[in-house]
Amino acid sequence: MNISIIGTGYVGLVTGACFAEMGNVVHCIDINDEKIKQLNNGIIPIYEPGLEELVSKNVQQEKLFFDNIYSSIEFADVVFCAVGTPPQEDGSANLQYVKSVAVEFGKNIKKHSAFIIKSTVPIGTANMIKEIIKGELIKREEDIQFEIISNPEFLKEGEAINNFMNPDVIIAGCETEYSKILIQSLYKKFDDSKIFITDILSSETIKYAENSMLAIRISYINDLANLCDKTGANIDEVSRGVGLDSRIGSKFLRAGCGYGGSCFPKDVKALIKTGEQHGVEMRVVKAAEETNNFQKHILYQKLYNAASKVDYPIKNITILGTSFKPNTDDMREAISIVLINDLLNDEKKLGPFNKIKIYDPIALNETKKIIGESNEKIEYCEELDKSIIDSDVIIIVTEWDVIKNMSLDVVKRLMNGNIIIDGRNIFNRKTIESLDFIYEAIGK
Ligand code: NAD
Repeated sequence: MNISIIGTGYVGLVTGACFAEMGNVVHCIDINDEKIKQLNNGIIPIYEPGLEELVSKNVQQEKLFFDNIYSSIEFADVVFCAVGTPPQEDGSANLQYVKSVAVEFGKNIKKHSAFIIKSTVPIGTANMIKEIIKGELIKREEDIQFEIISNPEFLKEGEAINNFMNPDVIIAGCETEYSKILIQSLYKKFDDSKIFITDILSSETIKYAENSMLAIRISYINDLANLCDKTGANIDEVSRGVGLDSRIGSKFLRAGCGYGGSCFPKDVKALIKTGEQHGVEMRVVKAAEETNNFQKHILYQKLYNAASKVDYPIKNITILGTSFKPNTDDMREAISIVLINDLLNDEKKLGPFNKIKIYDPIALNETKKIIGESNEKIEYCEELDKSIIDSDVIIIVTEWDVIKNMSLDVVKRLMNGNIIIDGRNIFNRKTIESLDFIYEAIGK
């Protein structure tokens, strides 16, 4: 098939490269000229394991193209909309980018083709988009048929290519037979049982329902972890035990310092907002958000507890991991940003610190863009060891393998103090305390 993908970010680029790999001709379009220039020069603007190889292979085979204009739409059998839908101040999703893509689709199509919404959009958006496209076609005085399909994306950054090539399920909201057949042929590589075709409003709802469900699980286990901290139970054991029940399962039950990222925080907000717009209070989802807002500050609280147990001043603090999760450079709503701001504001007056040393194997440049490079209290470290030298406290925020596998003996030798605050519960308390560390984790 001839496919255009509008929006060449995490979702658009992965989707484009994977559809090209499946034998289609794909044009990825973005309004960000710099991004398109980089891609045409073989530079991948984001970090996603395996993506560089996949893009380069399909570019060489002339199946994958990058452009900053919309002309490829006229030849497209399907046009995917994969632009961002960031949150607005009131929590609702900003649809300006999706709407402008719909206008371009209406202006440029020359034959019966489909507008497939991959961006995460509020329930009812597809109907609105349909009207926008119709309006453009009326302006052109053209009577071209088009399809509107909701096909939300469920990829996990860091595992995106594997998720695309081995999906649990492909959700598609279709309203015509033509649309259904189109979806079946687009995804013909996959078994029919993987494709769940439903109506458009339900498809749009499924996306928010899933992300909010996962956020609820995380917040629930974090609430329990905070209780375990008081009772003496071990949240890791509790999670394992609870997860063994097949009605519940073990995924998304790891306690930690809260969820971040480009999806959960914004999708939870958007679902609450959609509820409000329909006069329905989304009580459970609201509670998940409230819990997460509390949990995001837990590391600073833990640091404060640990500092009261030692008789040396906290001068140098090391933060290990800044991306919102491992295997990505994505810093959107990352917990590390909250922690760094908590430290810089230091309302509990733990300081004066000399330095906050920050290490991340991949996301350091993105971190600098957000936190800034000129703060004299902050030092960015390219090497893990360097970030630990003379440190009084290590705070683990993102569980990259390199951090999970660091030698605690070496850490002990390089540090000045002996506090480890483990925001992702990666270490075993007994092992770590046997090395004479003061260990603070989440609920164990
Ligand atoms: P992103 O910010 O990485 O990429 C969006 C891209 O769209 C940017 O490159 C931007 O320049 C481009 N763009 C904006 N307006 C445009 C226009 N009019 N024409 C062409 N290009 C335009 O966003 P993302 O993370 O890829 O997310 C895209 C959508 O997918 C969002 O709705 C998000 O909620 C959803 N989603 C994201 C993930 C994820 O893990 N990142 C997972 C599932 C769903």
